[in-house]
Amino acid sequence: MNAPFPSPDQNSTKPPLQLLIAAPRGFCAGVDRAIEIVERAIEKYGAPVYVRHEIVHNKYVVDSLKAKGAVFVEELDEVPDGVPVVFSAHGVPKSVPAEAQKRELLYVDATCPLVSKVHRQAERQIEKGRHIIFVGHADHPEVIGTMGQVEPGQMTLVETVEDVAALEFGPEEQLAYLTQTTLSVDDTADIIAALEQRFPEVRGPKAEDICYATSNRQAAVKQIAPSADLVLVIGAPNSSNSLRLVEVAERLGTNARLIQRASEIEAEWLEGVGTLGLTAGASAPEKLVREVVERLGEWRTVEETTIAAAEENMVFKLPRQLLD
Ligand code: SF4
Repeated sequence: MNAPFPSPDQNSTKPPLQLLIAAPRGFCAGVDRAIEIVERAIEKYGAPVYVRHEIVHNKYVVDSLKAKGAVFVEELDEVPDGVPVVFSAHGVPKSVPAEAQKRELLYVDATCPLVSKVHRQAERQIEKGRHIIFVGHADHPEVIGTMGQVEPGQMTLVETVEDVAALEFGPEEQLAYLTQTTLSVDDTADIIAALEQRFPEVRGPKAEDICYATSNRQAAVKQIAPSADLVLVIGAPNSSNSLRLVEVAERLGTNARLIQRASEIEAEWLEGVGTLGLTAGASAPEKLVREVVERLGEWRTVEETTIAAAEENMVFKLPRQLLD
């Protein structure tokens, strides 16, 4: 639909905008838990509490926790002696808690239990004498953390079907694969199919490693994108699951944009847009979704519809050390 495009002050002539809001969207159970861990650690131990890496990939969340007394650093050697430190939801290589113990630092591990599950799977495969092919994105903290669960040379990273074609394992090699939790469901299925074709004996995890939150958010975008002229995804440029949501929409032929805050939306983006899809990555709070709806309302008469692809009621327990 080619709507005329009024300035924000022409309220009386605002043309309609159909807004399809994806559900589920936004915070997952692992992000909720990680944020609560930092908040409870500040309450229990007092500020400052150091956090190794952004607790979750969202600037709004990180800034809110900074205001409460969290200090974000990239490496443990930036944490002063005697100060508590929290490890982020993405997980850490084994060397990190080992170093914290050596320095007698009080640490709280906010690794998402679904990432920890992949860590345990990696250990089990190595115990069984298998080499692990890990499907993930190089340099993502979750990948660094998972690869750091095993010794160097015990795990090989593949990012694409082409990487699988280039693998040079002989028929005698015992192989297993695992995946990052926040990948594209469709791309990963292709990569696993390529692995199984090249190495028919390769062992995979019993249940999917891509987490429920990633799969559900992608499924919801698949439902809204075909009816939308544009999809907005609220998330950070370093948030893997948010980037995948943009890709899912684009593969369905719908323009999609990643935004961190409503203020980034430009009026021109809405030209010719009659139906807009909206979702948020697993580390983006609902407050940012409402902020976007309000901004859209400055230009258009917004008619919201929620399109639900799944229901979520997952809750993860907090570490015991924060419960007493
Ligand atoms: Fe855990 Fe999935 Fe959320 Fe990552 S996106 S924190 S793996 S639930």
